[in-house]
Amino acid sequence: MLIDPYGRPVNDIRISITQKCNLNCFYCHREGENEKTAKEMTPDEIKKIVEIAAKLGIKRVKITGGEPLIRKDITEIIEKISSIKEIRDISLTTNGVLLAEYAEKLRKAGLKRVNVSLDTLDPQKYQKITGHNYSKQVIEGIIKAVETGLNPVKVNMVVLKGINDTEIWDMIDFSAKTNTILQLIEFIPLNTPNLSFQEHHMKLDSIEEELRKRAIKVITRKLHARKKYLLPNGAEVEIVKPFHNTVFCANCTRIRVTSDGKLKPCLMRNDNLVDILTPMRNNANNKKLEELFIKAVNLREPFYKK
Ligand code: SAM
Repeated sequence: MLIDPYGRPVNDIRISITQKCNLNCFYCHREGENEKTAKEMTPDEIKKIVEIAAKLGIKRVKITGGEPLIRKDITEIIEKISSIKEIRDISLTTNGVLLAEYAEKLRKAGLKRVNVSLDTLDPQKYQKITGHNYSKQVIEGIIKAVETGLNPVKVNMVVLKGINDTEIWDMIDFSAKTNTILQLIEFIPLNTPNLSFQEHHMKLDSIEEELRKRAIKVITRKLHARKKYLLPNGAEVEIVKPFHNTVFCANCTRIRVTSDGKLKPCLMRNDNLVDILTPMRNNANNKKLEELFIKAVNLREPFYKK
C-alpha cells in the first residue's frame, strides 16, 4: 500500500483525460490545471498509468476532464481500465450533456458509477452558470444513467451564493425522486476570477447543521472524512467542504493525473508535478515508472494543515 509522508494512504487515482469541455462554467477550477494544453494521453497510455498505480495498491479510478465524454474513445478508455484485474471501482465525473447517449455503452465497458454536475434545475440559471442551455439533456442523462444501472449516480451541485443557494431543498427532493445522491460542493477559489469567488462563495455550515437536525443517519466516508446525511424522504446528501478544511486534507487519499500526463499530488498546487507521460513515451521501463509514482506520492502534503 502507498502511504505518503503524512501517513495518508493513497487509495485512488483521479485522471483528467482532456481539457476540452462543451460547457463554460464561470467557476470552473479546471481540475487545478492552469496551463492550456492540447496534449492528451492515448487509451493505452492511460491504461499503463493505471496498471502502475494498481501494482502499487491503488484500486479505484475516477475519470474527469474537461468533459470526458467529449473524447470519442471514452468507451475504449473505460474498457481498457476495467480489464486491469486489481481495479475494483471505475467512476467518471461528467457534466451529463452527452450522458443519455453514453450511459449504456459506458456501463457495458465497465463503468460502475457516475457523478453528474447539475447546479440548478432552472434553465435560465443553468445558462448563466454554464453559458449553455443543456439542462434538459443533463436531467435526461441522469435518469438514463440510473435506468442503465450505474450505481450510485451522484449529482454534483456547487453551491453558489445569490445563484442557486435557494434551490438546495429542491435539489434534495430531485435527488430523492431520481434515486441519486446529492453532493453539495463548496465553491473553491482555484482558476476562478477573484470577484466571482467573493460574490458567490458560501460556507456550507448552516445547511449542514440543518441536515444534521433532520437526518435519520449520518455516515462519515473515508475519503476526506466527508459526511453523508440520510433524510426521512430517502434522500442522501453528501457535503464536500474543502476550503480551509484541515480535516478534509488530512483524509485525502487521492493522487491525480493531469490531462497531459503529469502526476499531480494536490488539486491546489502545480509546483510539484511529476511528468510520467514523457518517460513513458521514451520507453521507460515499469521500474522507472513505479519510481516516478512513488516520487509523486512522497511529494504529497496536505494543502491546509494544522
Ligand atoms: N466536466 C466534468 C463535470 O462537470 O463533472 C468534469 C470536470 S469538473 C471540473 C469536476 C467537478 O468539479 C464538477 O462537479 C464541478 O462542478 C466541480 N468544480 C469545478 N470548479 C469548481 C470550483 N471552483 N469549486 C468547487 N467545485 C468545482
